[in-house]
Amino acid sequence: MKAPFPVRFWRKIAVGAPDACWPWVLRTDSDGYGRIKRDGRFIGAHRAAYELHYGESVAGKFVCHRCDNPRCCNPGHLFLGTHQDNMADRNAKGRTASGTQNGRAKLNWQIVRAIRAAYTPRKVGASRLAARFGVNRCVVEDIVYGKTWKEAA
Ligand SMILES: [Zn+2]
Repeated sequence: MKAPFPVRFWRKIAVGAPDACWPWVLRTDSDGYGRIKRDGRFIGAHRAAYELHYGESVAGKFVCHRCDNPRCCNPGHLFLGTHQDNMADRNAKGRTASGTQNGRAKLNWQIVRAIRAAYTPRKVGASRLAARFGVNRCVVEDIVYGKTWKEAA
């Protein structure tokens, strides 16, 4: 029988000192994030870490790293991005979806589509696109995985 998800998850993390990075120890994706299967779907290991630790769903939100180490799953190094609820809500209602991300760069559908078009796993990853478009890496990740800025069906 398979161990419960939290048990399977924490076995794959090198848990260390409270303020150290706790890296995912298995293979990562092209952007350096751990990926783990939960209920038949792969999710970002850092996202799973946040949910397990804080007991709060991160659906539709960004989980960002304070430490800039995509492998890291120390909940103390993770934080939720801002403005996401607002934007997801606005997108869901089909209103114009312009806004600022983390106070740095303005995102709009044109930029979102350009990011999606340029994203090439193992070649042009989220880090590179983040630099190119002047947004946080976790913002790019959530765009390319379709967690935010969902296209209308
Ligand atoms: Zn860290």
